[in-house]
Amino acid sequence: MDRIKPFTETYSDMNPDVDDRLSAIQEFMHDQNHCCLCGSELSFSHKLDHFNLTIEEDARCGSCHISLRTKTHSLQ
Ligand SMILES: [Zn+2]
Repeated sequence: MDRIKPFTETYSDMNPDVDDRLSAIQEFMHDQNHCCLCGSELSFSHKLDHFNLTIEEDARCGSCHISLRTKTHSLQ
C-alpha cells in the first residue's frame, strides 16, 4: 500500500469564507472527512477488485445520498 493514486476528484469547492479561515491542512482534512454540500461526516466503503488487484474507496454522504469521491488503491 505504498502507492496511492487519486482516481477521480469530483467534490466541488467549499464555502469560500470557510476556506479563508482554515489552514491548508485543516481544509484538506475537512475535505477528506466531510460532505462538501452539507458538512455531514462521510462514510467510507471499500470494494476489493480481485481482477485488477485494486481497492476502490468510495466516500458517501448519508444525508445527501451521493457519492462524493472514489479513489482506487493499487495492491501491487
Ligand atoms: Zn451531504
